[in-house]
Amino acid sequence: MPVKVMFVQLASCWGCHQSLLDLHETLADVLPQLEIVFWHTVVDYKLHDVEKLPDGSVDVGFTEGFCRTEEDLHLLKLARQKCKLLVSYGTCSTYGSIPSLLNLYPIEEALSRKFKEAESVVEGRIPDKHVPKMLEHVKPNREYVKYDLFLPGCPPEPPLIAGVVTSLLKGETPKLKERTLCDECPRVKSDVIVLKKVKRDFEGIPEPEKCLLEQGYICMGPATREGCGAVCTSAGVPCKGCMGPGPNVMDQGAKMLSALASIVDYESVSPEDLVKAVKDVVGTFSRFTLPSSIIPKAVFKKK
Ligand code: SF4
Ligand code: SF4
Ligand code: SF4
Repeated sequence: MPVKVMFVQLASCWGCHQSLLDLHETLADVLPQLEIVFWHTVVDYKLHDVEKLPDGSVDVGFTEGFCRTEEDLHLLKLARQKCKLLVSYGTCSTYGSIPSLLNLYPIEEALSRKFKEAESVVEGRIPDKHVPKMLEHVKPNREYVKYDLFLPGCPPEPPLIAGVVTSLLKGETPKLKERTLCDECPRVKSDVIVLKKVKRDFEGIPEPEKCLLEQGYICMGPATREGCGAVCTSAGVPCKGCMGPGPNVMDQGAKMLSALASIVDYESVSPEDLVKAVKDVVGTFSRFTLPSSIIPKAVFKKK
Protein backbone atom coordinates (compact mmCIF):
# COMPACT_ATOMS: atom_id res chain seq x y z
CA MET A 1 0.00 0.00 0.00
CA PRO A 2 1.48 3.40 -0.93
CA VAL A 3 1.90 5.93 1.86
CA LYS A 4 -0.59 8.81 1.55
CA VAL A 5 1.19 12.16 1.83
CA MET A 6 0.35 15.81 1.48
CA PHE A 7 2.72 18.74 0.95
CA VAL A 8 1.49 22.09 2.22
CA GLN A 9 3.02 25.43 1.33
CA LEU A 10 2.30 28.29 3.70
CA ALA A 11 4.20 31.61 3.49
CA SER A 12 7.62 30.60 2.16
CA CYS A 13 10.01 30.81 -0.76
CA TRP A 14 9.46 27.21 -2.00
CA GLY A 15 13.15 26.49 -1.45
CA CYS A 16 12.41 23.57 0.87
CA HIS A 17 10.16 21.89 -1.67
CA GLN A 18 12.75 22.56 -4.33
CA SER A 19 15.32 20.84 -2.13
CA LEU A 20 13.26 17.65 -2.60
CA LEU A 21 14.35 17.67 -6.24
CA ASP A 22 17.97 17.54 -5.07
CA LEU A 23 17.28 14.02 -3.87
CA HIS A 24 17.90 13.11 -7.53
CA GLU A 25 17.90 9.32 -8.06
CA THR A 26 16.64 8.67 -4.50
CA LEU A 27 13.34 10.10 -5.77
CA ALA A 28 13.05 7.20 -8.19
CA ASP A 29 12.95 4.80 -5.21
CA VAL A 30 10.72 6.97 -3.05
CA LEU A 31 8.05 8.28 -5.43
CA PRO A 32 6.46 4.92 -6.35
CA GLN A 33 5.87 4.34 -2.63
CA LEU A 34 3.88 7.56 -2.23
CA GLU A 35 0.34 8.55 -3.05
CA ILE A 36 0.38 12.35 -3.10
CA VAL A 37 -3.13 13.50 -2.19
CA PHE A 38 -2.42 17.24 -2.05
CA TRP A 39 0.43 19.41 -3.33
CA HIS A 40 -1.08 22.72 -4.30
CA THR A 41 2.16 24.31 -5.47
CA VAL A 42 2.61 21.65 -8.13
CA VAL A 43 -0.95 20.74 -9.12
CA ASP A 44 -3.92 23.11 -9.00
CA TYR A 45 -5.64 21.78 -5.89
CA LYS A 46 -8.01 24.07 -4.00
CA LEU A 47 -8.64 24.41 -0.29
CA HIS A 48 -11.87 22.41 -0.54
CA ASP A 49 -9.79 19.48 -1.85
CA VAL A 50 -8.21 19.29 1.62
CA GLU A 51 -11.43 20.12 3.46
CA LYS A 52 -13.24 17.14 1.97
CA LEU A 53 -10.54 14.58 2.94
CA PRO A 54 -11.65 12.48 5.95
CA ASP A 55 -9.89 13.48 9.19
CA GLY A 56 -6.75 11.42 9.86
CA SER A 57 -6.88 9.88 6.38
CA VAL A 58 -3.43 11.09 5.26
CA ASP A 59 -0.43 9.20 6.64
CA VAL A 60 2.14 12.03 6.59
CA GLY A 61 1.87 15.77 5.96
CA PHE A 62 4.80 18.11 5.37
CA THR A 63 4.36 21.83 6.00
CA GLU A 64 6.73 24.36 4.45
CA GLY A 65 6.50 27.99 5.57
CA PHE A 66 4.81 29.91 8.37
CA CYS A 67 1.42 31.57 8.83
CA ARG A 68 1.42 35.07 7.36
CA THR A 69 -2.28 35.18 6.51
CA GLU A 70 -5.52 33.80 7.89
CA GLU A 71 -5.59 31.43 4.90
CA ASP A 72 -2.18 29.99 5.88
CA LEU A 73 -3.46 29.40 9.38
CA HIS A 74 -6.63 27.71 8.12
CA LEU A 75 -4.56 25.43 5.87
CA LEU A 76 -2.15 24.56 8.69
CA LYS A 77 -5.01 23.58 10.99
CA LEU A 78 -6.59 21.50 8.20
CA ALA A 79 -3.27 19.71 7.61
CA ARG A 80 -3.11 18.81 11.29
CA GLN A 81 -6.68 17.54 11.19
CA LYS A 82 -6.19 15.39 8.10
CA CYS A 83 -2.73 13.91 8.83
CA LYS A 84 -1.79 11.15 11.23
CA LEU A 85 1.78 12.46 11.37
CA LEU A 86 2.70 16.08 10.74
CA VAL A 87 6.26 17.06 9.83
CA SER A 88 7.49 20.64 10.15
CA TYR A 89 9.55 20.81 6.98
CA GLY A 90 12.27 23.47 6.92
CA THR A 91 13.24 26.35 9.16
CA CYS A 92 10.39 28.70 8.14
CA SER A 93 7.93 26.11 9.41
CA THR A 94 10.02 25.21 12.46
CA TYR A 95 11.35 28.57 13.70
CA GLY A 96 10.16 31.32 11.31
CA SER A 97 13.39 31.76 9.30
CA ILE A 98 14.50 34.87 7.42
CA PRO A 99 11.12 36.17 6.12
CA SER A 100 9.80 36.49 9.66
CA LEU A 101 12.38 39.16 10.44
CA LEU A 102 9.42 41.26 9.30
CA ASN A 103 8.35 40.92 12.95
CA LEU A 104 10.68 43.91 13.45
CA TYR A 105 8.26 46.21 11.59
CA PRO A 106 4.62 47.19 11.98
CA ILE A 107 2.55 45.37 9.39
CA GLU A 108 1.14 48.65 7.97
CA GLU A 109 4.69 49.86 7.29
CA ALA A 110 5.61 46.58 5.59
CA LEU A 111 2.53 46.64 3.35
CA SER A 112 3.15 50.23 2.40
CA ARG A 113 6.79 49.51 1.56
CA LYS A 114 5.90 46.52 -0.62
CA PHE A 115 2.86 47.84 -2.46
CA LYS A 116 3.40 51.61 -2.53
CA GLU A 117 7.01 52.62 -1.95
CA ALA A 118 9.11 49.89 -3.60
CA GLU A 119 11.20 51.33 -6.44
CA SER A 120 9.46 49.11 -9.01
CA VAL A 121 5.95 50.34 -8.07
CA VAL A 122 4.36 52.90 -10.40
CA GLU A 123 0.89 53.53 -9.00
CA GLY A 124 0.76 51.53 -5.83
CA ARG A 125 -2.15 50.54 -3.65
CA ILE A 126 -2.45 47.98 -0.92
CA PRO A 127 -4.73 45.18 -2.17
CA ASP A 128 -7.81 44.76 0.00
CA LYS A 129 -10.19 42.71 -2.15
CA HIS A 130 -10.14 38.94 -2.69
CA VAL A 131 -6.97 38.53 -0.60
CA PRO A 132 -6.71 36.83 2.79
CA LYS A 133 -6.19 39.03 5.85
CA MET A 134 -2.58 39.38 7.02
CA LEU A 135 -1.75 38.29 10.56
CA GLU A 136 -0.11 40.97 12.72
CA HIS A 137 3.11 39.03 13.25
CA VAL A 138 4.65 35.60 12.71
CA LYS A 139 4.51 32.96 15.43
CA PRO A 140 6.17 29.55 15.16
CA ASN A 141 3.70 27.04 13.68
CA ARG A 142 4.03 24.86 16.79
CA GLU A 143 2.15 27.54 18.70
CA TYR A 144 -0.88 26.84 16.50
CA VAL A 145 -0.76 23.06 16.04
CA LYS A 146 1.04 20.05 17.46
CA TYR A 147 3.81 18.55 15.32
CA ASP A 148 5.21 15.04 15.41
CA LEU A 149 8.57 15.83 13.86
CA PHE A 150 10.72 18.85 13.07
CA LEU A 151 13.06 18.83 10.10
CA PRO A 152 14.93 22.17 10.11
CA GLY A 153 17.23 23.68 7.51
CA CYS A 154 16.91 26.58 5.10
CA PRO A 155 16.39 24.47 3.13
CA PRO A 156 16.99 21.05 4.74
CA GLU A 157 19.96 19.34 3.12
CA PRO A 158 19.04 16.43 0.79
CA PRO A 159 20.81 13.70 2.87
CA LEU A 160 18.83 14.84 5.91
CA ILE A 161 15.56 14.68 3.95
CA ALA A 162 16.48 11.28 2.49
CA GLY A 163 17.20 9.89 5.98
CA VAL A 164 13.88 11.12 7.36
CA VAL A 165 11.79 9.97 4.38
CA THR A 166 13.44 6.54 4.37
CA SER A 167 12.76 6.08 8.10
CA LEU A 168 9.14 7.16 7.66
CA LEU A 169 8.63 4.71 4.81
CA LYS A 170 9.97 1.92 7.03
CA GLY A 171 7.47 2.93 9.71
CA GLU A 172 10.27 4.12 12.02
CA THR A 173 10.34 7.45 13.88
CA PRO A 174 13.26 9.48 12.54
CA LYS A 175 15.52 11.14 15.11
CA LEU A 176 17.51 14.31 14.60
CA LYS A 177 21.11 14.31 15.76
CA GLU A 178 21.58 15.81 19.20
CA ARG A 179 24.81 17.80 19.06
CA THR A 180 25.90 21.21 17.85
CA LEU A 181 27.27 22.04 14.44
CA CYS A 182 30.80 22.39 15.91
CA ASP A 183 30.67 18.65 16.65
CA GLU A 184 30.27 17.73 12.98
CA CYS A 185 32.40 20.56 11.58
CA PRO A 186 35.72 19.23 10.24
CA ARG A 187 37.65 22.40 11.14
CA VAL A 188 40.31 22.17 13.82
CA LYS A 189 39.43 24.03 17.01
CA SER A 190 41.29 24.65 20.26
CA ASP A 191 39.91 23.49 23.60
CA VAL A 192 39.72 27.10 24.74
CA ILE A 193 38.96 29.77 22.16
CA VAL A 194 40.13 33.33 22.80
CA LEU A 195 38.96 35.86 20.24
CA LYS A 196 41.63 38.50 19.65
CA LYS A 197 39.97 39.99 16.56
CA VAL A 198 36.54 40.03 14.90
CA LYS A 199 36.03 40.21 11.17
CA ARG A 200 33.19 40.48 8.69
CA ASP A 201 32.76 37.56 6.30
CA PHE A 202 34.32 39.35 3.33
CA GLU A 203 37.50 40.37 5.14
CA GLY A 204 40.62 38.39 4.29
CA ILE A 205 40.79 34.77 3.17
CA PRO A 206 40.09 32.18 5.89
CA GLU A 207 42.76 29.62 6.69
CA PRO A 208 41.59 26.33 5.15
CA GLU A 209 41.48 24.09 8.21
CA LYS A 210 41.27 26.22 11.33
CA CYS A 211 37.97 27.00 13.11
CA LEU A 212 36.46 30.13 11.54
CA LEU A 213 35.40 31.54 14.89
CA GLU A 214 38.98 31.30 16.12
CA GLN A 215 39.99 33.27 13.05
CA GLY A 216 37.62 36.06 14.09
CA TYR A 217 34.64 35.30 11.82
CA ILE A 218 31.23 35.24 13.49
CA CYS A 219 30.31 31.56 13.04
CA MET A 220 27.04 30.43 14.63
CA GLY A 221 28.25 26.82 15.00
CA PRO A 222 28.30 26.74 18.83
CA ALA A 223 24.60 27.69 19.01
CA THR A 224 23.36 25.68 16.03
CA ARG A 225 22.06 22.13 15.66
CA GLU A 226 24.15 19.71 13.62
CA GLY A 227 22.67 17.76 10.72
CA CYS A 228 23.48 19.73 7.58
CA GLY A 229 26.91 18.13 7.22
CA ALA A 230 28.59 21.48 7.99
CA VAL A 231 28.32 22.37 4.32
CA CYS A 232 29.06 26.08 4.77
CA THR A 233 32.00 25.89 7.17
CA SER A 234 33.56 23.09 5.09
CA ALA A 235 33.48 25.50 2.16
CA GLY A 236 35.06 28.33 4.18
CA VAL A 237 31.82 30.21 4.93
CA PRO A 238 30.84 30.90 8.55
CA CYS A 239 27.63 29.19 9.64
CA LYS A 240 24.60 31.50 9.73
CA GLY A 241 22.60 29.14 11.93
CA CYS A 242 19.92 27.89 9.53
CA MET A 243 19.44 24.56 11.37
CA GLY A 244 18.14 26.53 14.35
CA PRO A 245 19.16 26.22 18.00
CA GLY A 246 21.29 23.34 19.20
CA PRO A 247 19.88 20.77 21.61
CA ASN A 248 18.68 22.18 24.94
CA VAL A 249 19.05 25.73 23.66
CA MET A 250 15.96 27.85 24.07
CA ASP A 251 17.13 30.95 22.21
CA GLN A 252 19.77 30.54 19.51
CA GLY A 253 20.62 34.27 19.32
CA ALA A 254 20.99 34.65 23.09
CA LYS A 255 23.11 31.50 23.26
CA MET A 256 25.48 32.74 20.55
CA LEU A 257 25.73 36.20 22.11
CA SER A 258 26.65 34.70 25.44
CA ALA A 259 29.15 32.30 23.79
CA LEU A 260 30.74 35.23 21.99
CA ALA A 261 30.84 37.40 25.09
CA SER A 262 32.70 34.67 26.96
CA ILE A 263 35.49 34.19 24.39
CA VAL A 264 36.28 37.78 23.39
CA ASP A 265 39.60 39.10 24.67
CA TYR A 266 38.47 42.61 25.60
CA GLU A 267 42.05 43.90 25.73
CA SER A 268 42.41 43.21 22.00
CA VAL A 269 38.81 43.74 20.82
CA SER A 270 37.04 46.96 21.72
CA PRO A 271 33.23 47.30 21.90
CA GLU A 272 33.51 49.49 18.76
CA ASP A 273 35.26 46.63 16.88
CA LEU A 274 32.44 44.30 17.89
CA VAL A 275 29.74 46.71 16.73
CA LYS A 276 31.60 47.16 13.44
CA ALA A 277 31.84 43.41 12.88
CA VAL A 278 28.23 42.74 13.87
CA LYS A 279 26.39 45.40 11.94
CA ASP A 280 22.93 43.91 12.38
CA VAL A 281 22.53 42.21 15.76
CA VAL A 282 19.11 40.59 15.20
CA GLY A 283 19.92 39.69 11.59
CA THR A 284 23.18 38.06 12.67
CA PHE A 285 22.16 36.15 15.77
CA SER A 286 18.42 35.54 15.28
CA ARG A 287 18.26 35.49 11.49
CA PHE A 288 16.42 32.17 11.41
CA THR A 289 14.69 32.06 14.77
CA LEU A 290 13.30 35.49 15.69
CA PRO A 291 9.64 34.38 16.21
CA SER A 292 10.87 31.48 18.39
CA SER A 293 13.19 33.60 20.51
CA ILE A 294 12.57 35.04 23.96
CA ILE A 295 11.76 38.44 22.41
CA PRO A 296 9.96 37.33 19.24
CA LYS A 297 8.96 40.70 17.78
CA ALA A 298 9.37 44.42 18.10
CA VAL A 299 6.74 46.20 20.17
CA PHE A 300 5.25 49.39 18.74
CA LYS A 301 3.29 52.18 20.33
CA LYS A 302 -0.24 52.34 18.95
CA LYS A 303 -0.66 55.52 16.91
S1 SF4 B 1 13.16 27.50 5.21
FE1 SF4 B 1 14.43 28.68 3.80
S2 SF4 B 1 14.33 27.54 1.87
FE2 SF4 B 1 12.66 26.79 3.15
S3 SF4 B 1 10.91 28.02 2.54
FE3 SF4 B 1 11.87 29.05 4.29
S4 SF4 B 1 13.25 30.57 3.40
FE4 SF4 B 1 12.73 29.09 1.79
S1 SF4 C 1 32.73 27.69 15.36
FE1 SF4 C 1 32.20 27.29 13.22
S2 SF4 C 1 34.13 26.87 12.21
FE2 SF4 C 1 34.48 26.68 14.40
S3 SF4 C 1 34.19 24.51 14.82
FE3 SF4 C 1 32.24 25.53 15.21
S4 SF4 C 1 31.14 25.34 13.27
FE4 SF4 C 1 33.28 24.91 12.83
S1 SF4 D 1 26.54 25.39 8.10
FE1 SF4 D 1 25.04 26.57 9.23
S2 SF4 D 1 24.12 27.96 7.73
FE2 SF4 D 1 25.22 26.35 6.59
S3 SF4 D 1 23.66 24.81 6.15
FE3 SF4 D 1 24.66 24.22 8.07
S4 SF4 D 1 23.40 25.14 9.70
FE4 SF4 D 1 22.86 26.13 7.78
